[in-house]
Amino acid sequence: MDLLKAVKFAADKHRDQRRKGIENTPYINHPIAVAEILGLVGDLTRIELLQAALLHDTIEDTDTTPEELKDHFCAEVRDLVVELTDDKTKLKDERKRLQIEHASQLSPLAKAIKLADKIANVTDIMNSPPADWSNARRLEYLAWSDKVVAGCRDANKKLLSE
Ligand code: NDP
Ligand code: ZN
Repeated sequence: MDLLKAVKFAADKHRDQRRKGIENTPYINHPIAVAEILGLVGDLTRIELLQAALLHDTIEDTDTTPEELKDHFCAEVRDLVVELTDDKTKLKDERKRLQIEHASQLSPLAKAIKLADKIANVTDIMNSPPADWSNARRLEYLAWSDKVVAGCRDANKKLLSE
């Protein structure tokens, strides 16, 4: 039930959003995919981790506040999602640079979610890329993801081999 509560909360918060890919899928498909990737690894099944995976884009991309996550879930879930939230006051290129710089300083569970997030996004870029992205831009995204993932290598061996 605790997992379904996070699915319901994230689905409600992302209800008006779509992914950028040509298939225009509902946004919620992405956090569900991230949680599924963690679940399939087998040794990353703590409820707080899976809830944070489902909620990982709520602060960054919706009106969700850290306090709301603490009230509906717990302080650990709030802290994980805050760790995974980019500072939107920064320009896009700076945000991308900071993701590379900060990856190695994330907590172990935040690193695991970051790895699963990149696995999900790279899979989307291969299977359902944004319609207006050239091959060069897709390759640029893969190269950037690789640099972020490099900082998360100690999170989980099985996840890293995905
Ligand atoms: P991003 O590269 O930030 O977009 C990718 C992000 O969008 C993902 O990390 C993911 O984040 C989310 N997303 C949503 N739908 C999809 C999907 N179907 N597949 C994969 N990811 C998806 O693009 P921006 O539009 O923010 O552009 C900013 C950056 O792009 C700039 O830093 C610039 O350097 C670069 N750029 C490159 C160009 C080129 O031609 N080479 C041209 C223009 C910009 P989440 O998990 O948070 O949802
Ligand atoms: Zn994401």
